[in-house]
Amino acid sequence: MYFIANWKMFGGVNSLNSLDKVIKFIKSFKKKKLIQIIYCPPNTLINLMSRKFRNININVGSQNCHEQKDYGPYTGSVNCRMLKNAGAKYVIIGHSEVRQSGESNDLINKKIQTAIKSGLKVIFCVGETIQQKRKKLTKKVLSKQIKLGLNNVKNKKNIIIAYEPVWSIGTGIIPKPLELLKTINFLKKKLKYNKILYGGSVNSKNINQLKSIYNLDGYLIGGASQDPKKFIDIIKKTYI
Ligand code: PEP
Repeated sequence: MYFIANWKMFGGVNSLNSLDKVIKFIKSFKKKKLIQIIYCPPNTLINLMSRKFRNININVGSQNCHEQKDYGPYTGSVNCRMLKNAGAKYVIIGHSEVRQSGESNDLINKKIQTAIKSGLKVIFCVGETIQQKRKKLTKKVLSKQIKLGLNNVKNKKNIIIAYEPVWSIGTGIIPKPLELLKTINFLKKKLKYNKILYGGSVNSKNINQLKSIYNLDGYLIGGASQDPKKFIDIIKKTYI
């Protein structure tokens, strides 16, 4: 199971101290071989964080990347080569908070191609808005995001899919179990060889409900991942 922490635009150098609790927990966790934790902090913390996790099986990723592989005159941007150099092994691409600021499926596709070529593993986010859900367009939207996002991507083995309904992110609302089960099954049929995660308001209370979705390969966790106790609780409860 994957437990991916998305810190969004939160955290400074002092926030890294909170990870001591997570490291201590993992060292003593009997099921540690069954899980993969990936922290995606703001880029400013990638290097320090990857040093912190040097002796433990926790990986670090970025929350976005530039679509160009090489260095270039793109003020304010960071490419995969730089992220890798800082210690990232993964990159989140297509997060709805980035899509909302104008990122198109075509740009997402370019970023995925570049990330794979650069040797980063991709956490590719897909999900429908509340309006699309109400119009029963979920499958259509997901199919389009996947078709365009993965267009001409030959090597898909290093791509993890995160199904994140936009209406669930940061709202405290999660999909009904049967609805989620059906959507994950739909994605599994489309992408037979990829891990499929769920993301959107995962917390230490609703994890008991979410873990009943037997076909999930893990979770992408935003808000709750910033508190080590809550993050550890989610992992523990997944296995109780
Ligand atoms: C996310 O940012 O990917 C996310 C799932 O956020 P939250 O858990 O806060 O809803």
